[in-house]
Amino acid sequence: MAAANRPTFRGSGVASSDGIVIGYIQKLAAGRHPIPERTIEHAGIPFELQRLDSALQKALKELDEEQEHLIGLKTQEPLLILEAHRMMLLDPELIQKVRQLIEDKQINAEWALRQQLDAIGLVFDEIENPYLREKKSDVEQVGIRILRQLMGQSLKLELPSGSEPQILLGQEFSPQDIVTLWRLGIAGIIAEQGGMNAHSIIVARGIGLPALIGSDNILDKAEDGDAIILDARLDKWILNPTGQDLEQYLNFMAAFEVIRIELEQFADKPSLSRDGKALPIMANLEFKEELTQTHHVGAEGIGLFRTEFGFLQSHDMPSHSTEHQYRDYSHIIHSMRGAPVTFRLLDIGGDKPALFQQLSGYRYGGANPAMGLRGVRLLLHLPELLKHQLTALLKAAEDGPLNILVPMVTSVEEMEQVRDIIEACKQTLGVTRHIPLGAMIEVPAAVMIARELATVSDFFSIGTNDLIQYTLAADRGDEDVGPIYSPDHPAIYQFIKMSVKAASKAEIPISVCGELAADPGWTQSFLNMGMDSLSMGLNSVLTIRKHLSHLKYQADSD
Ligand code: PEP
Ligand code: MG
Repeated sequence: MAAANRPTFRGSGVASSDGIVIGYIQKLAAGRHPIPERTIEHAGIPFELQRLDSALQKALKELDEEQEHLIGLKTQEPLLILEAHRMMLLDPELIQKVRQLIEDKQINAEWALRQQLDAIGLVFDEIENPYLREKKSDVEQVGIRILRQLMGQSLKLELPSGSEPQILLGQEFSPQDIVTLWRLGIAGIIAEQGGMNAHSIIVARGIGLPALIGSDNILDKAEDGDAIILDARLDKWILNPTGQDLEQYLNFMAAFEVIRIELEQFADKPSLSRDGKALPIMANLEFKEELTQTHHVGAEGIGLFRTEFGFLQSHDMPSHSTEHQYRDYSHIIHSMRGAPVTFRLLDIGGDKPALFQQLSGYRYGGANPAMGLRGVRLLLHLPELLKHQLTALLKAAEDGPLNILVPMVTSVEEMEQVRDIIEACKQTLGVTRHIPLGAMIEVPAAVMIARELATVSDFFSIGTNDLIQYTLAADRGDEDVGPIYSPDHPAIYQFIKMSVKAASKAEIPISVCGELAADPGWTQSFLNMGMDSLSMGLNSVLTIRKHLSHLKYQADSD
C-alpha cells in the first residue's frame, strides 16, 4: 500500500474516538506550498496580468460551484464563509496591489500574490483583537485559491471514488465542515489546529468519525494520494506506513473487531455496578441522524441534545421557525419511546460568529467570545428567539418526557428570568404540565452558588468541558494550553463534588454531560459520589457501561 519512495512520518493529535482507518490522503486547505518565483521582461507584464485575471475568474467560478453544492446539502455556515471569501476575492485591496507588484517589480503573478498575502498577514499579526486576527486564515485561504488556479491545480474536493477510504487533511475544520464531510462519505479527518475539547472534535466523536486535530506539521509532509494510518485510538497517525506498520495495524483492527463484538453484548443491559448500583448512561446528541446509533447502543435516554446544531443546519435562518423546530424535537421524543430527552437551549455566542451574526443581526465585537454574550446571556438578550425555541419545546413536551437545560448559567436571576418566559409561553399555549428546567453547571460561579441555584432548578447537569476551561483559565480549543486544560487539577474534583452535595441536599438529580463522563478513569468517582446519571458521546456508551459493570460502589465518606 505504501507509495513507492515516499518517506514514512509519524505524529500525534487529539483524537475523536477509538476508530482506526487506513486510507489515502487528500489535502483540503493547502499548507505553504513552494511557488514559482520569476522576474519577467517588461513585455511580459500584460501576460502575467492576464494570467492573474483568469485565475481570479476561475477561483470565483469554483466558489460558485462549491456554494451550489452546499445549497443542495442545506448547510448554512460554510455558505456564509464562502460568501465572505467571495467578497475578499473581489476586494480591490488584494488584487490591485498584486497587479501593482507585477508591474513595479516585474515578477510573476504567483510571487506577487504571495508577497501581498504575506504583507496582509503581517498587518493581521499586529491586530490585538483575537477574533479579527483569526481572519488572517480566511485571507490566506482566498489567496491559496488564486494561487492554485495560477499553478493549474484545482482546489475542488474530489470525493471518494470507488472503495478507497479518503482521509482529508487541512489546517482546521469547523463543526459544520466535519458534518458535511461525514455525510459525503469521508473516512477520516486530520487537522493541524485545534485542542482537547474543541467543538469540532466533539462533533466528530458524536458521529463516530475518526479524526485527529492539533496534528502539527503534517501538511508539509503529506501529498495527495499518500497512504496513511489514522489511529484515533492511540491518538496518532503514520504517513506512508511501512509494511511492518500495516501488518501490525491489520492485526490491531482484527483484535478491535473482537472487542467491538464483545462490547455489543452490553447494548441491552442496564447500567449497573458489579454490586447492582445503578448509574444510568445517556447519550449526547447533536443531530437527529444519530438516533439510530442511540438505539443501537441502548442509551437510557438523551442527557444532552445540543440544539444549536439544528440551527447551523437550517436553511431558513434566522427564523428557523417554531414549526420546524417542533417537528425536529417531536421526532426525537417519539423516537426515544418514553426515555427522557434533555434539550439544551441554544448555546451560541461569538464562538460561532456566522450564526451569531445571523441570529443577532450584528457582528460579534467582544475580544473574548468564550466570556462574552454566550449561552443564556444571548438568549435573554434575544428573548424572541428564546420564545420561539421554548414554544417548540413546550409543544414537543406533549409527546413524551422532555427536560429543558439552560447553558452558561452564572446567577439565580438568569434561571428565574428563563422560568418567567417559560411560564408566559405555557400560558399562551395553554400548557399546564410541569416541564423540568435544569441549569448547566459549567462556570465556577454556578458551583459556588449551587445551593441557591438548586432552589430555582429542577436538575443540574455538569458541563465539564467548559467548567475545566473557566476554572483553569485555559481555552478548551487551544492546543498550546492543552497540558493546563486538565481534569486532574484538584479544583475540578472539588467543584464536581460541591455540585453533587448541593444537588443532593436540595434533592434534585445531577448528571455529568461533559466529556469527563466518558472517561473511565472517573467512573468510580462518579459512582461513589452519588452522581445520578452520566451522559456522553455515543461511541463511549458501551465502553463505560462495561467498565461500570466491573466496579463496586464505595460511598464517599463525607
Ligand atoms: C460542557 O461544557 O461540558 C458541555 C457539555 O457543553 P459544550 O461542550 O457544548 O459547551
Ligand atoms: Mg458547555
